[in-house]
Amino acid sequence: MSITLESRIQYLVGVGPKIAEKLNKLGIFCVQDLLFYYPRDYQDFTSLTKIGEIKISNPEKITIGGKISEIVNKRTSKRRFIVTEAIVEDESGSIKVVWFNQPFLLKMLRPGRELILNGKVGYNWFSKEAVMESPERATKPCIVPVYPETAGITSRYILKLISHISYLIDQVEEWLPEPIVKNLMPIGMAIHELHFPTSMANVEKAQRRIAFDELFLISLRANLSKEEIKKEKAPALDIDDETITEFVAKLPFELTADQKKATWQIVRDMKNPIPMNRLLNGDVGSGKTIVAAIAALVTIKAGYRVAIMCPTEILAKQHYESFKKLFSNKDVGLFTSSSKKYDFQTKIFIGTHALIQESIKLDKLGLVIVDEQHRFGVEQRSKLSKIRSGELKPHFLSMTATPIPRTLHLALFGDLDISIIREKPVDRKEIKTRFVSAQNREKAYQFIRAQIANGRQAFVICPLIEINEEQSDKLFEDERRSVKVEFDKLKAIFPEFKIDMLHGKMKSTEKDAVMADFVSNKTNILVSTSVVEVGVDIPNASVMVIEDAERFGLAQIHQFRGRVGRAEHQSYCFLFSSTMREKALKRLTSLEMTSDGFRLAEMDLETRGPGAVFGTEQSGLLDLKMATLADRELIEEASEAAKRLIESDPDLKNHPLLKARVSEYLQNKHLE
Ligand code: ADP
Ligand code: MG
Repeated sequence: MSITLESRIQYLVGVGPKIAEKLNKLGIFCVQDLLFYYPRDYQDFTSLTKIGEIKISNPEKITIGGKISEIVNKRTSKRRFIVTEAIVEDESGSIKVVWFNQPFLLKMLRPGRELILNGKVGYNWFSKEAVMESPERATKPCIVPVYPETAGITSRYILKLISHISYLIDQVEEWLPEPIVKNLMPIGMAIHELHFPTSMANVEKAQRRIAFDELFLISLRANLSKEEIKKEKAPALDIDDETITEFVAKLPFELTADQKKATWQIVRDMKNPIPMNRLLNGDVGSGKTIVAAIAALVTIKAGYRVAIMCPTEILAKQHYESFKKLFSNKDVGLFTSSSKKYDFQTKIFIGTHALIQESIKLDKLGLVIVDEQHRFGVEQRSKLSKIRSGELKPHFLSMTATPIPRTLHLALFGDLDISIIREKPVDRKEIKTRFVSAQNREKAYQFIRAQIANGRQAFVICPLIEINEEQSDKLFEDERRSVKVEFDKLKAIFPEFKIDMLHGKMKSTEKDAVMADFVSNKTNILVSTSVVEVGVDIPNASVMVIEDAERFGLAQIHQFRGRVGRAEHQSYCFLFSSTMREKALKRLTSLEMTSDGFRLAEMDLETRGPGAVFGTEQSGLLDLKMATLADRELIEEASEAAKRLIESDPDLKNHPLLKARVSEYLQNKHLE
């Protein structure tokens, strides 16, 4: 039987059922998977450093080429293992090279042998000399791919397997249309370069091609689903602008220009018989709630119901309270797993995912609003996207306070239209943010004492719930503050105050009780994990303390500090950190400088990747193999290309290969 791209992996020579099983664990099922299994790194035996010019402060691996002048096996003083010591020289100098527990090297590497070595060079303070440790060897200049391994499958073995089927690379058909692939490396060549590199420059071009594919496929998916939505029918709401004007006139403030614009975009969308699919993105405190309320208002006026979905119980209750102030009480209902306050008159249902899970019947559902959608689980998100009301699909408004940089939006959420609220309501005071060094901690506590004596309240945020046994033996780990430890410590520091704690492992009734006490100012200081991050409103709180601040993303810290300064009191954010790392300190001090959440999110994205922008739990879309979401240029290119292609070929009818690729790619993502 001849081997093709679709052949199952166990039909390859030398691959038995056992090895096949191990390969399956790496996601390799057929021959094509093997070709698409890319190296994670390369050993570059081509760019030689002269031995005389080696810098020992360089932590990177380097490559040297030279001749062995001496080589011996030695037993270590404790006689535990054998060290092979060699001296390698080129025309510029010589260096000691060591390998551990490979005594056979002595026979292979005779004095006079020429070889190329790739490894790290350290400085041995004892013998006062530079030493290259356990380098990899090659006999001629070449680049060796390094594959992700699994028990029983070495990188070397994978390369051997791929070498056997390399002749099949030519059969991988180019799936990108001609005008798009024009500026990129063709697929066959890219696969070839990744496994059998001819130069590092070509490897980079090949990686760029594969990265482009990933971003392009994600973007195509987004554009395709946008087209899908256009085929759906939504209630075209009969909206009369008077309703809005009246409602807005009763507010105690004037809407900002950005709020007006967002409202206008939403209302315009909902007049259409096509479902709205829009993201309302605005910093903490920018006033998204009122915009959402107007959307709800026009929906119920047109005779439809509204569902507002929140990721936490606390948030659902808070929205419930604010909506009750804006609407007549009978219109607004609450639906969470622990409290159900609604009846047949309810028009606006506010709740947690219980709202969809317990499938209460929502007839004439015209609008679904989801707050902080990325905090919902994958399954819940998929359920959210499938909500329908009879024949119709409701309009959909997603809200987030996570400032999403444009590139990230393009790459991940291209199917959503976006409304951004950038400016804050005018009377908002800047929150004074200070990085507090260890010696000033006491002063900060005095300051907090004075604030609380004045009637204010304080949050203290810690990264961990309790100190984990497994981690405590790691260096510095026990320095990390946990909610429980911090809680006890603060009780000793502030015996005159009432202190409480909140974390994700508590039952929701316990959490609610703690929050209720804090809201009513029965508690002075609340020690908490990041659960308070989303949307909680305590106008009386004026101090936000963040412990081990270096462990959070800038955008996340920015969210925390948005919990204070919600009323007229001047508010403060204190960042504590014991890190000595210069980069981390610099990041933290940048929070003192700017209060622009979008700018901070961009900085996060550049330095720490998208995980930092969203906190930890984001969709599987974030684990890309080759692309990085900080690559602005490539993201723009890929999303532009995807958009143009879908405009000319909305169902990809003329690009069947590409269409297959999109669904295959997404399927694989789901399996992860
Ligand atoms: P977020 O965008 O974080 O959800 P909110 O909608 O909770 O922000 O608004 C924060 C606070 O600002 C609320 O108390 C709200 O009443 C108030 N607010 C909203 N819009 C304005 C405005 N245009 N002028 C003054 N205050 C406003
Ligand atoms: Mg909010």
